Amino acid sequence: MKQRINLLIAFSVVALIVLSSVQCYLVKTTYDYKVAQFHTEIKNEIAQITNNYSDIDSFLAARKDALYKTLSENYIQGKNTKSDIKKGILENEFKDALTQKIQRKLERDLPNFKIDFAIILNKFILYKNAWKNDTIFSEKPFIENKLYGNLASLNHSFLVRNYVGTTNGTFENQDYKLLTEDSMYVSVIDWEMIILRRMTVILILSLFCILTLISLFVIAIKALIKQKKVSDVKTDFINNITHELKTPLATLGISTKILEQKNIRDNDENFNAIVNTISRQNNRLQNLIDQVMANSLAENEIELEKEKIETEDFLFSIVNDFKLTFPKIDIQTDFQTQKTNLILDKFHLTTALLNVLENAVKYGSNKIVVKTKQIENQFSIAIEDNGIGISKNKQALLFEKFYRVEQGNLHNTKGLGLGLYYVDQIIKAHQGTIAVMSDLGKGAVFTIMFKV
Ligand code: ADP
Repeated sequence: MKQRINLLIAFSVVALIVLSSVQCYLVKTTYDYKVAQFHTEIKNEIAQITNNYSDIDSFLAARKDALYKTLSENYIQGKNTKSDIKKGILENEFKDALTQKIQRKLERDLPNFKIDFAIILNKFILYKNAWKNDTIFSEKPFIENKLYGNLASLNHSFLVRNYVGTTNGTFENQDYKLLTEDSMYVSVIDWEMIILRRMTVILILSLFCILTLISLFVIAIKALIKQKKVSDVKTDFINNITHELKTPLATLGISTKILEQKNIRDNDENFNAIVNTISRQNNRLQNLIDQVMANSLAENEIELEKEKIETEDFLFSIVNDFKLTFPKIDIQTDFQTQKTNLILDKFHLTTALLNVLENAVKYGSNKIVVKTKQIENQFSIAIEDNGIGISKNKQALLFEKFYRVEQGNLHNTKGLGLGLYYVDQIIKAHQGTIAVMSDLGKGAVFTIMFKV
């Protein structure tokens, strides 16, 4: 059974991990999709704003074309090298003015986003009539080839568009053509936050689903383990009650056999001794059955007959009765309260307190102290013993029906595991609480609390 539960837990954990991974994968896919969608949205918006530079500033665009022309003609003349052309293009004097204009236009037309951009020169190719094309330069987009813009790096930026420009010219009776290509890269500040905000519902729902699944899993496993413990405890109970019934039944059997002998029946002394034994065993059987019957009642079926009692007096009388039954046990009182009137059921509470006191003796104690205290509106009765104690990991189930600390095999001490269950039910019926503080070998303290 234990192996089956472990296997079930292992399977469920694997299933949970797989489910969570699938969920994470789906969230990641959605995230990637949202990023792509966001890029397309920005590209489309920017496409509507600028077709080319002359849309933004025709005067500066004309100056740029003029610069390209001069640089090309100087190159044709042999006055410029290729690297002079690149330098001349990149160090253009209208860089800042055009950057500011494009920036302002982006701010005006896309007020919801804070956009940084860079326009990078990729190609500069000259075509001359007689010549083949002459590639002045053609490079991958580098931030170092930035023509305009305020972007410091191409990391986390994305391409929104390419501009291909052609300029025709005539120099020294020769026609030439100039082909340039530049790309616009943009980066939206806080784009991750924008996408996360767009994914809030999905994220919350996914988290909710995973948490619900985990909670359901934990609840189910807990219920399963509890069920298993209860079933173990019931098996223990059956073992214990069989054991408890065997002794009186065996004694009764032997006594009946003895009584069948005529010489015993004729001897008054022997006869009475046997009858006493039968009567004692009969009482023991009756007690066992009463105990089982009393505890088969559910909590709400306990009918209390409450009355106002002076609690300290009531406790004194229980302690005195206990002293008579267990004269060898040193039982003391340490009351820090006086004349506390509580509404209690004397009969049931006497049985409950005697259960706790008798347990102390049963589980190795020879000294018991009964203490009372009142903190604010809580009246507490603490029963301290110096017995064998209970290890911490066994305390959670102590008040469960049929639970006995030594499980599996039979207990050395007699009992059905019903005493503390009964105590707990009675205290609960009084709207009180009971708790235990103990450690193995260090005695135990049972504290009962009532509202005053
Ligand atoms: P029972 O005594 O019939 O076994 P109880 O419900 O009275 O059943 O007690 C449950 C278990 O709690 C006992 O089996 C015992 O191991 C443990 N126990 C109860 N009281 C004490 C105590 N004072 N000291 C040590 N162990 C205790």
